This record gives sequence, structure tokens and C-alpha cells, in this order.
Amino acid sequence: MTKSIAVLAGDGIGPEIVEQAVRVLSSLGLNIEMKEALVGGAAFDRFEHPLPKSTLDLAKNSQAVLFGAVGDWKYDHLPRELRPEQSILGLRRSLGLFANLRPAFLYDDLSNSSTLKPEVVSGLDLLIVRELTGDVYFGTPRGVRNANDGNFIGEREGFDTMRYAESEVRRIAKVAFESAMKRSKRLCSVDKANVLETSQFWRDIMTDTAKEYPNVELTHMYIDNAAMQLVKNPCQFDVIVTGNLFGDILSDEAAMLTGSIGMLPSASLNSNNQGLYEPSHGSAPDIAGKGIANPLATILSASMLLRYSLDLSDYANLIDKAVHNVLANGFRTVDIYENGTNKVGTSEMGDAVINELRMA
Ligand code: NAD
Repeated sequence: MTKSIAVLAGDGIGPEIVEQAVRVLSSLGLNIEMKEALVGGAAFDRFEHPLPKSTLDLAKNSQAVLFGAVGDWKYDHLPRELRPEQSILGLRRSLGLFANLRPAFLYDDLSNSSTLKPEVVSGLDLLIVRELTGDVYFGTPRGVRNANDGNFIGEREGFDTMRYAESEVRRIAKVAFESAMKRSKRLCSVDKANVLETSQFWRDIMTDTAKEYPNVELTHMYIDNAAMQLVKNPCQFDVIVTGNLFGDILSDEAAMLTGSIGMLPSASLNSNNQGLYEPSHGSAPDIAGKGIANPLATILSASMLLRYSLDLSDYANLIDKAVHNVLANGFRTVDIYENGTNKVGTSEMGDAVINELRMA
């Protein structure tokens, strides 16, 4: 069967970095059909919608979506539902992408990029599995109302609802345990079970699921401690699983441990392993069009795409190794540049990865 990818480059640096990832994928000589479509602000300019039906249909009919980034300050005046960022939410919702996988990996050659001491972050290699479609972000009821109980009767109050259905927790638990099985078989579930009912429920289901994975060592940690441990001793973690709200915060914190947002890929999956793959950074309008953006997060996202959606782990390993070698050989875009290394632009970095792949 021909493998199919929807390529949605988006705005800002999106087209520049996605171009390099597509070149890398093409250089592997695989039989993959790649079809492009507009998304985000670029789609709004043409179709007056950030996620036109044609783009959504292409994504739905593909095994995976390679996504660049969306957004630009020039769209800030638009009503919320027409802003570029809504396209990501629409894709997540329509494709049922409930599992967000965010690796945080510190390359030895970039250990000076972290704001933490090298001895604290050296060897960092963790994966955050964040539930993406539930929790207080989507729970109802929510809104602003006149309080009719408690200490503030008569005042206006804002409210949201934290809730998780059992099936939602079980399916993210499965992704997390399976991910741990592929790594060092250690899983830490993060919650706030000392205060929140939803978290105690989450913890009980994680503990129950652990019975199906006797080889995985499951631990539990409260979110406040986890936030602290991530900066104190981040190398203690292998796979972390957590809900949408806590995961939002922890995954950005973990990203910063590596010091270079231009290096971090991500995957969002549904239960059929259909996925959306994108760099963790945004559209960086400040450097768009200058040819200096770091394409490695997007190239590494393409590697995750091969691994998780196309079942081509051998090729994913080749890309990961090529990126390692490129960094070891001193190639650096401006965001990770330090004295004594070789400063290159976006397409030269793509060239360097492709050259490594040719030599593999
Ligand atoms: P950003 O991640 O785009 O940029 C933050 C800083 O990091 C900027 O200085 C930028 O130049 C730099 N940077 C980011 N990626 C880089 C790369 N690959 N190489 C080199 N430097 C890089 O965040 P922001 O400035 O807060 O947001 C800009 C726009 O992106 C906004 O419209 C925002 O809504 C959008 N955004 C989109 C996504 C997404 O598409 N998933 C995520 C976050 C932000």
C-alpha cells in the first residue's frame, strides 16, 4: 500500500523548515505520497478559513500530517475561531488526536545550550506523554456566572470543570505503557491526587493498567514535585504520563531543559496511529523568510512520523543518527550557534542531514 502524508507547512518559518523535512524524507527513496495543502494564516488569506474543508479532508485521508507552524501577529485582530492557531485545534479534534508525545533529548554537543548546569542535564532523554483532548481544557460546564453558593454569593465568578472519563484515561495509559515498553520500562504518572478527585481517579486507573504491563515500573508523583524534580534531577525520568493541563506546563518546562526550542519534535496520535507531527516551536515571524530557522525539530518530527504512523522505525533511526552526526560535525543554525562551530542556514542544515543519510 502506498504510504500517504499530508504536508501542511503553514505560516512564518513553516514553509522553510517543512521544505527541508520533505527533502530529507524524499532522499530516503521510500514510496511515500506527499500532498501539500494550505493551513493557518496562509489558508485564511486564500479561503477565509484557517482550516478549509479541502485541507481537513486531505489530513483525514492521509496516514499522517507533517505540520510546520501557524500564526502571525497580523491575524491577531480576527475573531478567535478564524485565527490560524484554531487550525491545530480543529485537526486535533477531527482526527481524534488524544495522545501528545514530546521527547526532550539533550545532544551531548549542545549541552552548553541549556540554562541548567551540564552535570544536571547531561544524558537527558525523556518522553512526556500528555493527554490532549480532555481535562479542564475541554470539560463542561464552564463559563462566567453569578455565584449562588459559597463565600462569594452575588459576585460574578469564572469556572471550568476538570473531568476525565475512564476510557480517556485508559487509552492514554495504554500509549504511555507501550511507550515505556519501547524505552527503559520506567513510567512516572503525574497528578495532584492529594487534592483533586479527578487525579485520584486517574491514579487508580494507571495503577490498574500497570497489571497488564508487569515489566514496566510505575511510579506516581504530584505535579508540584514533578515540576521541581524536572529542574533538580531531570535524568531520573524516562516516560512521564500526565493529563492535559499538567502536561501543557511540564512539556514546555522539559523543552527548556534542552535549551533549544528549534530542536524539539512532537507527535499527536489517535488510536489508529494516525498522527500529526510538528516542531514544538511556533511560526517565528521575527525570522521568517531570512533562511536562518533551525529545521531540525521538523526533520526530527518527520522521523517520529516514520516511527509511529508509517511503521518505518529503521528509517527513523537513520534520520536520528544523521542529525546526531551533523551536530557532532559542528553544523549549527543561529539559535544553537556557539563560537568555534560552523554557522549554517536552513537549507544548508537540510543539505547536511541529507549528506549524512547518503553516507549511512
Ligand atoms: P515561537 O516559537 O514562534 O518563537 C519564539 C522564539 O524562538 C522567537 O525568537 C523565534 O525566532 C525563535 N524560534 C522559534 N523556532 C525557531 C527555529 N526553528 N529556529 C530558530 N529560532 C526559532 O513563539 P512566539 O514568538 O511566541 O509565537 C509566534 C507565532 O507562532 C504566534 O502567532 C503564535 O501563536 C504561533 N505559535 C504557533 C504554534 C504552532 O503552530 N504549533 C506554537 C506556538 C506558537
